Amino acid sequence: MKIDVFERGFSPTPIQELTDACPGNRVFLKREDFLPFSFGGNKVRKARHFYREILECSADVVMTYGSSSSNHCRIIANMAAAMGLPCHIISPEENYRDTPNSRMVEQFGAVVEKVPLSGISRAIEARKTAYQKSGKNPYFIQGGGHGDPGTAAYEECYEEIHSWEQEQGISFDYIFHVSGTGTTQAGLVCGLLACRQQERTRVVGLSNARTLERGRPVVVQSALSWLEHVYAPRTGRRISEDEVERAVCFEDAWRLEGYGCYNNAVVRTVEEAMKRYGVPMDTTYVGKGFWAMTEYVKREKLAGKNLLFLHTGGTPLFFEDRCGEENAG
Ligand SMILES: *Cc1c(COP(=O)(O)O)cnc(C)c1O
Repeated sequence: MKIDVFERGFSPTPIQELTDACPGNRVFLKREDFLPFSFGGNKVRKARHFYREILECSADVVMTYGSSSSNHCRIIANMAAAMGLPCHIISPEENYRDTPNSRMVEQFGAVVEKVPLSGISRAIEARKTAYQKSGKNPYFIQGGGHGDPGTAAYEECYEEIHSWEQEQGISFDYIFHVSGTGTTQAGLVCGLLACRQQERTRVVGLSNARTLERGRPVVVQSALSWLEHVYAPRTGRRISEDEVERAVCFEDAWRLEGYGCYNNAVVRTVEEAMKRYGVPMDTTYVGKGFWAMTEYVKREKLAGKNLLFLHTGGTPLFFEDRCGEENAG
């Protein structure tokens, strides 16, 4: 019998309060890192939706793209292994390193094809065509789980948050999270608009890599794509581009020099989170984002607000940070 990888055992992820994380405001943490598959994280929530599509179109090879420290690649390789399907990962050859995530990917039996960054899209197309020519039916997932299924996953996550607010009688003024490919943010914004909560709650995407010019349009386009292709046909309701534009708050003030860059304040945030709350955070995503939230709160002089921060996972990176010296070079 085939194992149903994702359909069982999933329930809303816990929300806990972190006392004194931003004095003068209440801070809550939603533990997406507790999603029950492969160390959790937002890529698991997205993967569940890709999983359904893979089953629906009876694909027999799973393909994706990502670097050697990619959480997304770990989860997709794990999912493919659990489904009994071969997995093919295209990875940039530059900076390819041995990491906890890359080791797991290899253990799951994925084929990792290392290609120079400049040749990535060509390599992906060539590989897809080669599989098709040999009679295979490959399913390609964009890097980071980008695309409508990924957006749908975070639209659902927003609904989960909204139900929690109603059950607990607490309403969030802000929802903060790290924005990378923009899919998580696009989904949350779609949820906010679908539930008509955009006047009450602000979703703030804290960029860990992209500049405003590069990152914001991707969030807007991803949200519009899901609203047009999935939401409008399902509900008959159209949400205008103008409404989407107004609901997207993308902050790049704390991206530092970009992906993977952090400072002493981020390191201190990570140490404090572990010591005070027992919550692991990494320096690339969650620790950097949590620090960025505290800076945002100071800059905007927020007081008396209810803030929710999404812990989007990346637990293997917590250990990668701790083995950084031995692994460097
Ligand atoms: C991928 C990732 C993000 C960013 O999510 P996007 O949907 O790509 O914006 C945030 N946190 C962690 C731990 C991630 O792995």
